[in-house]
Amino acid sequence: MLQQVNGRSPGFGARGGESLSEDLREFLVGEAPLHQLDDLTKVNPVTLETVLRCLQARYMADTFYTNAGCTLVALNPFKPVPELYTPELMREYHTAPQPQKLKPHIFTVGEQTYRNVKSLSEPINQSIIVSGESGAGKTWTSRCLMKFYAAVAASPTSWESHKVAERIEQRILNSNPVMEAFGNACTLRNNNSSRFGKFIQLQLNRAQQMTGAAVHTYLLEKTRVACQASSERNFHIFYQICKGASKDERLHWHLPEGAAFSWLPNPDRTLEEDCFEVTREAMLHLGIDTPTQNNIFKVLAGLLHLGNTLFADSEDEAQPCHLMDSAKCALRTSASLLQLPEDTLLETLQIRTIRAGRQKQVFRKPCSRAECDTRRDCLAKLVYSRLFDWLVSVINSSICADPDSWTTFIGLLDVYGFESFPDNSLEQLCINYANEKLQQHFVAHYLRAQQEEYAMEGLEWSFVNYRDNQMCLDLIEGSPISICSLINEECRLNRPSSAAQLQTRIEGALAGSPCLGHSRLSREPSFIVVHYAGPVRYHTAGLVEKNKDPVPPELTRLLQQSQDPLLLALFPADPEEKTQEEPLGQSRAPALTVVSKFKASLEQLLQVLHSTTPHYIRCIKPNSQGQAQTFLQEEVLSQLEACGLVETIHISAAGFPIRLSHQNFVERYELLRRLHPHKSSGLCSPYRAKGRSEWTPHVEAAMLLPLLQDILHTLTATTCAEPPE
Ligand code: ATP
Ligand code: MG
Repeated sequence: MLQQVNGRSPGFGARGGESLSEDLREFLVGEAPLHQLDDLTKVNPVTLETVLRCLQARYMADTFYTNAGCTLVALNPFKPVPELYTPELMREYHTAPQPQKLKPHIFTVGEQTYRNVKSLSEPINQSIIVSGESGAGKTWTSRCLMKFYAAVAASPTSWESHKVAERIEQRILNSNPVMEAFGNACTLRNNNSSRFGKFIQLQLNRAQQMTGAAVHTYLLEKTRVACQASSERNFHIFYQICKGASKDERLHWHLPEGAAFSWLPNPDRTLEEDCFEVTREAMLHLGIDTPTQNNIFKVLAGLLHLGNTLFADSEDEAQPCHLMDSAKCALRTSASLLQLPEDTLLETLQIRTIRAGRQKQVFRKPCSRAECDTRRDCLAKLVYSRLFDWLVSVINSSICADPDSWTTFIGLLDVYGFESFPDNSLEQLCINYANEKLQQHFVAHYLRAQQEEYAMEGLEWSFVNYRDNQMCLDLIEGSPISICSLINEECRLNRPSSAAQLQTRIEGALAGSPCLGHSRLSREPSFIVVHYAGPVRYHTAGLVEKNKDPVPPELTRLLQQSQDPLLLALFPADPEEKTQEEPLGQSRAPALTVVSKFKASLEQLLQVLHSTTPHYIRCIKPNSQGQAQTFLQEEVLSQLEACGLVETIHISAAGFPIRLSHQNFVERYELLRRLHPHKSSGLCSPYRAKGRSEWTPHVEAAMLLPLLQDILHTLTATTCAEPPE
């Protein structure tokens, strides 16, 4: 059952719809001060400005959550608000007969999602999609939701049969500090920025108890291991080791106090996230024993020393560039920590092997200093990304339930928000592509589905225009020609191609797309994509190379020679593998490009999301300095625009933002029926639409609301009856 309570025309041609909703507005909600409006659909009129004012008023009144129709808006308090996340409050939302009547909260979303799984005769998987820009609070929100489910969906038997730390819910929660230590870093925008996307499936059995979970990760920013922007940092784990290692461990891992590492910038900033003990403890509970942990940290220390392995140009071009004298110790230490032969490590960094001709003759080509640097960085990225994937699989094997011990899941998606920097490259293209896909999912699932549903049920409905981003997606990923296909084509052809040529190809082949902006004003080769969240300029320099993400086969072979048990597990010898030197004059075309792999994983994710009922939480950052009690209108405005919130509210508000079951509706207005039985006889009589065996709540609403209006008019004219509850 749907009710119009916001004071605007409902868009359907029911008798006197406009005045009805005005009456209902006063009757049901009254005129509340801005900060008390807990649903943005009640703001009148809905414009960016009014929505902004309402959110600001609420923020300044320490009210951080607001409904926006089907979406929950979460403002980052940037200060501890422990009273908002207590176990008592979790219980209150969990046990409330109607949690949506309590103050808006992530627990309302959590509880409704949980009840959705429970209430349906045919269980349907649910998902909560948490979005927002960097630092807006996505990871915080996901973590709180996990704690909520760990509390409300705990299996009672696990209390009896396990110690607290061994309980599955606790293990699932322990995955957070581990994944954050290895996958998060301090950036300019967030001290604890997730540098990967995460989708966690919380697995529930028939009794809605959590029996396990599975984590999927997306696009770890592995370049960070060898290259950090100024004022940013490497992944937390490196700082944790350097700060938290014991005396003995320092000795073993060659990490004397105060040692300087070029891949460890800004070590003096101490963050809450630098707590080594928390990570170790969590790893232990996930089944990663101390010797394995020590092995991991030893390898990471090896990478830090590898970063200090600096090369200098050789005067003789025929000679490889040489290792700087000051770096000899770093190379030796790195080789010893990674358990690699020192001379083989150096040679692999300095010399490229090329196989050419029919006889597959092997040539050795000395590398320039820049090439040596690239190979060194590539080695570190290779080890770190494999280690991260391995950790995720270990975590999964520790927390994943048997397939027959769960029937449904609640998925939590915490992905990087839309990004637009002065210099955008392949990483931003992938991130913004993912956001376009998620926006389309939102539009498809909610906006379009809602409007189509009204049309299907015969309600006269003036369609609200929403921006469908299909054209932008066609530009990015469409076939046969799109930005992705053109970049992939360059990788496949493996031809020398300048940044300017790539720009010309993209702008030439895709000139017809309305989502391709004009890049003429730029000095550097680039192209502009007009995303739903705004235009973004992508620079073409280095795009093709990043997309290839080439790994010289000698590097993999080098790591396969390691005596270190962890590296051996990460780089098992491939029995099939023949010698794979690069063909002369060209590097081997990689089988799968970054874009292709990303596209495939995104499609898989969307397939999963499509099979669920989605719920949305939009996190908003009130200011970029991370200050409490500071609401910067301009910064919030751009985020509201980026997530298309006003359009969402328009549709929710102009439609039927409140859904009541027929039973609840009848119970709620029973008083009216008793007062005016002759007018409200339709209230309780079942109505079935033609040819349908199901209740059709929208049709009922269309019938009953005008009736209610009549009753209200009569009531105000003749009686001073108490409004119904
Ligand atoms: P990124 O995309 O960079 O990973 P994010 O959206 O995941 O960013 P979070 O790491 O969740 O952002 O939040 C940034 C910081 O904001 C947190 O470290 C925390 O200090 C603060 N914060 C977020 N939400 C809350 C909250 N509800 N209460 C208190 N502090 C919060
Ligand atoms: Mg995050």
